[in-house]
Amino acid sequence: MQQTKTLQKRKRIALIAHDHKKAEMLEWAIYNKTVLSRHELYGTGTTGKLIEEHLDTPVRKLLSGPLGGDQQIGAMVAEGKLDVIIFFWDPMEALPHDPDIKALLRLGVVWNIPMASNRASADFLLTSPLIHQEYEVILPDYSQYLGRKV
Ligand code: PGA
Repeated sequence: MQQTKTLQKRKRIALIAHDHKKAEMLEWAIYNKTVLSRHELYGTGTTGKLIEEHLDTPVRKLLSGPLGGDQQIGAMVAEGKLDVIIFFWDPMEALPHDPDIKALLRLGVVWNIPMASNRASADFLLTSPLIHQEYEVILPDYSQYLGRKV
């Protein structure tokens, strides 16, 4: 049988932006302040601090990305503690925590999490009616994988 998980009306949204993308994330967040403030916001250290200061909205700040923040967010995704990821990653710069970035993006797919990696996608996500409604996420079936013979 298909497993689902209910996302509540008030979503738990993770916000992450690489340094060259922080200005864009901030501009986007300010523009969408009203919608964002209806949800529970999480962020990697520096991104979270910036958004909290400029939006005057509480953000639960994790560690800075390169210091483990991406991995903390990944762990929350795996544990079902986050609903949406907005991650403006930088396609033009190699970063020291590249494995952590990949791991986070991978876990978002593993758990069928709505994810936006750029501003246009983030706009589509935030203006979807589903952002304010309960939503049944279909969880991928990993039972065959878990029951495999090793
Ligand atoms: P930061 O981390 O918000 O602490 O800068 C972002 C990242 O590089 O993942």
